[in-house]
Amino acid sequence: MCSGRVDLAHILRAFASGVDGVFVGGCRLGECNYITHGNYHALNLVLLTQRILARIGLNPERLRVAFMSAGEGNRFVEVVDDFTRKIRDIGLLGQAEGLDKTAMNTELAEVSRLVPYIKIEKHAKLTARLENESEYTDHFTVEEIDQLLDEVVCYHIDPEKCQACMICRRRCPVDAIDGGKNRIHVIDQDRCIKCGTCLDVCPSRFGAVDKIVGMPVPPPPPEAQRILKRKAKA
Ligand code: SF4
Ligand code: SF4
Repeated sequence: MCSGRVDLAHILRAFASGVDGVFVGGCRLGECNYITHGNYHALNLVLLTQRILARIGLNPERLRVAFMSAGEGNRFVEVVDDFTRKIRDIGLLGQAEGLDKTAMNTELAEVSRLVPYIKIEKHAKLTARLENESEYTDHFTVEEIDQLLDEVVCYHIDPEKCQACMICRRRCPVDAIDGGKNRIHVIDQDRCIKCGTCLDVCPSRFGAVDKIVGMPVPPPPPEAQRILKRKAKA
C-alpha cells in the first residue's frame, strides 16, 4: 500500500533469492495522503541499502526508487522500462560484478541478520525528510556504512552482576539468551540480532548487560559456574 512499508529485510531477501534488480515506487514526495510521509522513509531506505549493496560488491544501481502519482501512467511505464533496460545492461546478479555466489549469499545473510541493529543505529537518518536531491549523495556515506558494519555492537551479560531475574530472556525477540531460575544468563552471540532490548530491560539496580563496541566479547562462564549464589540476608 505504502512505499514506507518497504523494509531493508524485504530488499535483501529479494536479492538473496536471486533477483537482478529491485524497484521501489512511491507517491510524489510531499504529496503523501498520510501524516507519516512514508515515501521519505522509502527514499532514505533505498539510499542506505545502495551503500550496503556497494559494500558487498554489488552494483547499487540494481536498486532504484522513483516517485509518481497514481495518474502518471506514462511516467510509470517510462521509469520501469528505463530501469529494466538498466538491469539488463548491468547483467546477472553477482556474476556481472565478478562475485562468488556463495560468498555473496553469505554477505547478504550476514547483513540480513543485522537489519534490526542497522535500523536502530540509523533510525534518525531513516526518518529524516530530505527536501533536495543534492542531499541524497551524502545522506549515508561510505565511511559511515563501513564503520557501522565493521564495528558492530555486541551485548554481554556480566556474570558477576546477573541476578537471574529472567526478564531479558523473556523479552529477547529471538531467544538468544540462555538462563533460568538461579542460573546466570548468557547471550548466544550467533543468534543475537543486536536489538539492545536486553540492555534496556535489565533492571538498573543490576545493570548486568554491557554494550561492547570494537572489543572482543568475553567468553561465557563455564556451565558449573553459572549457578547463582545469592548473598544471605543480614
Ligand atoms: S541484543 Fe539482547 S535482546 Fe536483542 S537479540 Fe541480542 S540478546 Fe536478544
Ligand atoms: S535482566 Fe539482567 S539481571 Fe535479569 S537475567 Fe537478564 S542480565 Fe541477568
